[in-house]
Amino acid sequence: MAFSLTSLQLPSPVLREHTGPLTRRLLREAGGRGLGQVPVAVKPEIVVTSVCGFCSTGCGLSVHLRDSQAVNLSADGAYPVNLGMACPKGWESLAPLAAADRATVPLLRDRTAGTTTPLTWHAAAEHFSRRFKAVQAAHGADSVAFISTGQICSEEMALLGAFAKFGMGVVHGDGNTRQCMATAVTAYKQSFGFDAPPATYADFEESDVIVFIGANPCIAHPIMWQRVMASRREPEVIVIDPRRTETALAATWHVPLQPKSDLALFYGLARILITQGWLDHNYVALHTNGFEDFAEFLEPFTPEATAAATGLPVEEIHRLAAALKPGRRVSFWWTMGVNQGHEATRTAQAIINLALMGGHIGKPGTGANSITGQCNAMGSRLFSNTTNLFCGRDFANPSHRAEVAGLLEIPESAIPDQPSLAYDQIIDGIETGKIRGLWVIATNPAHSWIQQGRMRELLAKLDFLVVQDMYHTTETAQLADLVLPAAGWGEKEGTFVNSERRIGRTRQVSRAPGQALSDFRIFRLLADAWGCGPLLRQWTDPEAVFRLLQRLSAGRPCDITGIAGYDMLDRCGGVQWPWAGTGEPESERRLFSGGKFFHADGRARFIFDAPRPVPEPVDAEFPLVLLTGRGTSAQWHTQTRTGKSEILRRLHPPDLYVEVHPADAARLGLAPHSAALVASRRGSLRARVVVSPGVQPGSVFLPMHYEATNGLTLWAVDPHSRQPSYKHCAVNLSPAT
Ligand code: SF4
Repeated sequence: MAFSLTSLQLPSPVLREHTGPLTRRLLREAGGRGLGQVPVAVKPEIVVTSVCGFCSTGCGLSVHLRDSQAVNLSADGAYPVNLGMACPKGWESLAPLAAADRATVPLLRDRTAGTTTPLTWHAAAEHFSRRFKAVQAAHGADSVAFISTGQICSEEMALLGAFAKFGMGVVHGDGNTRQCMATAVTAYKQSFGFDAPPATYADFEESDVIVFIGANPCIAHPIMWQRVMASRREPEVIVIDPRRTETALAATWHVPLQPKSDLALFYGLARILITQGWLDHNYVALHTNGFEDFAEFLEPFTPEATAAATGLPVEEIHRLAAALKPGRRVSFWWTMGVNQGHEATRTAQAIINLALMGGHIGKPGTGANSITGQCNAMGSRLFSNTTNLFCGRDFANPSHRAEVAGLLEIPESAIPDQPSLAYDQIIDGIETGKIRGLWVIATNPAHSWIQQGRMRELLAKLDFLVVQDMYHTTETAQLADLVLPAAGWGEKEGTFVNSERRIGRTRQVSRAPGQALSDFRIFRLLADAWGCGPLLRQWTDPEAVFRLLQRLSAGRPCDITGIAGYDMLDRCGGVQWPWAGTGEPESERRLFSGGKFFHADGRARFIFDAPRPVPEPVDAEFPLVLLTGRGTSAQWHTQTRTGKSEILRRLHPPDLYVEVHPADAARLGLAPHSAALVASRRGSLRARVVVSPGVQPGSVFLPMHYEATNGLTLWAVDPHSRQPSYKHCAVNLSPAT
């Protein structure tokens, strides 16, 4: 691909749209070289494509290299995902690599003295091995656990899963994907027989009706939103969300239901579809099970009862049901507003049920489609070997263990025969003394987990805490006994899997600072120190591991044996799973086109449960509902990386703010931009008041990127997926003195 000066000079339409005049001025001042990058005095010679390392959209970025070192980047115009667009985070991908607080050397902390001492890698690996082995010797193999991430490459997370589970004998390991995608995983497994998001992004452009539920792609997945905007079908865009988000403002129809009334709404819609006969009877009869029981269950969800539960007028509920009738191409897309709820799995399945009833699945412009969060959450779902054995297998299934042992040429006895505790159960295990040692990789639970105060207290109780991260300054790294310095995106090789199941390549385009190593090399080093070299002799480098993953996928729904190596990923602009064919596949493929699902009988299931009350209803003392979520397209999760970019920092308010409805603000005497105290039963914080009709009376909204937010949230999880509920707890609000 030739170097193009034009591609550097012109920011994408998305950047223009989402960054405003300040960034455009900065771009001009940057002399057309992009933002936050070094000046390009000499024409770079090589441009390579690397998939972005922030969100699950999986945009291709053209990285401009001189002397094998990135000097700039632009959005890849040829990559099928983003078609030349990138959001501010993508454009600023190189800036976090140059941060002053990069972890550059292993650090050992003395908790008593409050000091840290640099170690060699040899000493760090020896210390890691000695301390965790001592914990296991004293308290059992299952007293050590790990928390992984959706931010590292599939090959790295697979090696971690193999080393920890098969080599260290660790039974319990989970990922931060528990916080974003566990609900979709559980819902798909139960409904379809395998964790299989069906969509391809072309479905955004092929739909007549696009229903976003608890999703705000304008800022959370801006390139997906651009693809909606690119549709020539002029779709009806319906946003079901208690907040009038940026996406709701841009949609053709915002459905402002009461917080956490979505499950009741979907049952009410399903009942209307049945009573009106707005069903694809043929599809239901041929491709599903359980419809009759579902129809009977729906009886109490009359339009009037649904209106009472949701706060929506009966007429609007009818009109919404009519929009979902067979005959038009209807696609449903959900994300954290659904996944992060106390009855999230059943809510996701209620969406799936609506898609099945209308036959809205397996055809262009349809589907019950979860949008993933992190760049490689989808890779984690298949390849992390944490709560599932590789490629959607089950640790408790003897034939699955035998199969994996044979494929990896390891003793079957090395594979744990019990499933892992989930993330929240691992943390609960610290309180009971069951978990005594914890290894945290590329995630920041001391900031991001619910009920932050309790999380921090429990992390401090551990006998030994290891944090492996790019930065030694994260809230979690500052609690660690041992910090292992890791390379970040752009400093290592491997693959990510995006929301449409596309496996794309991410590359090393920059040298990691100091002694920081790729996560892959760290895992290898630690495995050798542990004595696992022979067990992991095939796991030599990322591409060798990719071939192992292909072998493990053979015959599974995620079969990728047809991918002829990394070169094919480059040539094809990524490849969606499954691909077991010969030659190169079509660029965009969706699942279930033949109406055949992954249950043994080939049929999807209607799954349902009665709605349950929220875990912490509002009351006289805490009369407001707290909603949390993404703040802007310039922020990513705990701001560990995006906070390092001066440009991105200028694109959002520096201090925490709380969105309050004008009526509540007036009642409480809160002026715009004044300081307020927001308190829950677990803590309080100070925030600047943003008076906004975007939140409903009785609700307030806090962005999740600021450290204090999770000091308020409630320790509550969905019982099926064990995903935390970030979207509802009770708070009060008052002027700060
Ligand atoms: Fe694309 Fe997401 Fe990266 Fe933005 S953060 S450039 S939307 S992959």
